[in-house]
Amino acid sequence: MIQATGELDSGIPSGPVADKWDRYRFDLKLVNPANKRKYTIIVVGTGLAGASAAASLGELGYNVLSFCLQDSPRRAHSIAAQGGINAAKNYPNDGDSVWRLFYDTVKGGDFRSREANVYRLAQISNLIIDHCVALGVPFAREYGGTLANRSFGGAQVSRTFYARGQTGQQLLLGAYGAMLRQVAAGKVKLMPRREMLDLVIVDGVARGIVTRDLVTGKYEQFAGDAVVLCTGGYGNVFYLSTNAKNCNVTASWRCHKRGAYFANPCYTQIHPTCIPASGEHQSKLTLMSESLRNDGRVWVPKQQHDPRAPREIPDADRDYFLERRYPAFGNLVPRDVASRAVKERCDAGFGVGATGYSVYLDFREAIARDGVETIRAKYGNLFQMYDKITAEDPYQTPMRIYPAVHYTMGGLWVDYDLESTIPGLFVLGEANFSDHGANRLGASALMQGLADGYFVIPYTMGQHLATRKLPKVSTDHPAFAQALADAKGRIDKIVAIQGHRTVDSIHRDLGRAMWERCGMSRDEAGLTATIARVRELRDEFWRDVKVPGTGESFNQNLEHAGRVADFLEFAELLATDALNRKESCGGHFREEYQTPDGEAQRDDEKFCYVGAWEFQGVDKPEVLHKEPLTFEAIPLAQRSYK
Ligand SMILES: Cc1cc2nc3c(=O)[nH]c(=O)nc-3n(C[C@H](O)[C@H](O)[C@H](O)COP(=O)(O)OP(=O)(O)OC[C@H]3O[C@@H](n4cnc5c(N)ncnc54)[C@H](O)[C@@H]3O)c2cc1C
Repeated sequence: MIQATGELDSGIPSGPVADKWDRYRFDLKLVNPANKRKYTIIVVGTGLAGASAAASLGELGYNVLSFCLQDSPRRAHSIAAQGGINAAKNYPNDGDSVWRLFYDTVKGGDFRSREANVYRLAQISNLIIDHCVALGVPFAREYGGTLANRSFGGAQVSRTFYARGQTGQQLLLGAYGAMLRQVAAGKVKLMPRREMLDLVIVDGVARGIVTRDLVTGKYEQFAGDAVVLCTGGYGNVFYLSTNAKNCNVTASWRCHKRGAYFANPCYTQIHPTCIPASGEHQSKLTLMSESLRNDGRVWVPKQQHDPRAPREIPDADRDYFLERRYPAFGNLVPRDVASRAVKERCDAGFGVGATGYSVYLDFREAIARDGVETIRAKYGNLFQMYDKITAEDPYQTPMRIYPAVHYTMGGLWVDYDLESTIPGLFVLGEANFSDHGANRLGASALMQGLADGYFVIPYTMGQHLATRKLPKVSTDHPAFAQALADAKGRIDKIVAIQGHRTVDSIHRDLGRAMWERCGMSRDEAGLTATIARVRELRDEFWRDVKVPGTGESFNQNLEHAGRVADFLEFAELLATDALNRKESCGGHFREEYQTPDGEAQRDDEKFCYVGAWEFQGVDKPEVLHKEPLTFEAIPLAQRSYK
């Protein structure tokens, strides 16, 4: 690793944190309506970030090209989000405010996020709810008609808006509807089943992309005046995760290789309440929403390897370990804290189930208190999902849960405008690193994706278009030919190997290596070994992978191969970043750095910065750039949920 001397400029406006965004928005340049028609904006991704960005940019009058992997934009991974979306409306009158949401998010992120961004997010949260209601999103309501709220981890107020266990789906349908309105108006053109394989840079500015049609295998090039990347997170580098199977790092990684810095790749979120892996055959894991911790109580037997069925174990023999360790927040401690506590109990031999690697999430008391119908109304679809997967009825017997990879806080580095280090390349939603620090609080990813797409990019895009000289560029420019040759060359090379190993088996090995020593807890020896193992697997891939079929047709093996090839490069950076960060913070837990009672021990003196990496070539050490983090509104403090 090489350290760069210059610091990164995030462009945070001056002035008190609460006024920054309003003042800045006034200072930002506008593009007049007649000129907006002249610009084309490429939006890659149609999850909540991408669909909301395409809808709002189209509504403003720009010409938008919208790309996604799925056959319909509605199938983006955001559809999987279950639990809810935060906003500081304070409808329950329980003490919430923009400032409290800001505070909870900075603290939840273990003081590794930018204050200015987080404040803006909290401020915008309320607008999102109004906007989504206007779009027709059917949020749950109280008897009197007001929107209902529930609680999520890391907060002592109820501020999570939800649509049963399908909040992501309903929000995505809202954004999709808004986008389709622009499709009908001729402002947005949909390009489904296209995979972005490269970014095209002309005169230092992002001016286009290269894609491959996933049905025909045809390569295409698209030119524009800006590229907005909304391609989601990289959790699948761990193979097993709660993410949709086609979540990947490819678009971000290819942009990284063209010059976009990658920030904090080691910050990965492990979610405590997932259905435990049941064997080697499994290709993905299933989340049980955090909302369940509103009513479910997490426990293990007090006696190791207790042979009794859970219902036969009386309260006196149960250890409600989250309530015991964290009385102030109980079962609603943040995800990183809960996950580590679960792992600690299982490692100590108190875990349950066949493998001993799960704990109970129990609704017995909630059902007795509120009645089975109330619980069914709140969580019915989640209970049904659990029952279908495990063949156990959670109304009768406690769920068994264990932590799993769920979300990635790291991503491409962006400034306050959400612009990467490549001018004209903006990054939104889970694909950027911006607002969650070292740990994301539940229900705040949807909030961030929609804040970025509906409320930030419409303003900051104008600044780019109005202040930069953007001569017309077409796909005849030599930079397009070069990017196309690179993208195609890489695919041809993969097809030509014709070795012995399946893509899936290499991906599985990569995931195992990453999870075992670079997952929920990490140490120097383990990370060094992980890097060596990743390099081995990368060599093996390029020597011995076998991809059946050709590149000239529908070929899902080939799609997967391209993504695994990128994961094999990216994984090394993730582990390198984890090795470099000699402290524990949020989801990044280094065993060497913990408090006497096993909590994450930050080192603010040395590591209070965003680590943004600059690509130098595969097999070459990347250069580390630091963006120092300063905390003016919320003083740095050791997190406590006790
Ligand atoms: C099971 C589950 C439940 C969750 N529940 C919640 C919740 O209740 N509340 C909450 O706040 N968060 C939740 N999250 C997190 C949240 O869902 C995601 O962080 C968020 O939806 C990401 O949105 P996005 O728009 O950034 O990306 P995504 O929704 O992942 O969309 C990515 C888009 O990019 C496209 N794409 C990717 N690569 C390419 C490429 N190379 N070329 C072209 N297109 C590409 C895809 O096709 C897709 O359209 C949950 C996550 C999971 C896994």
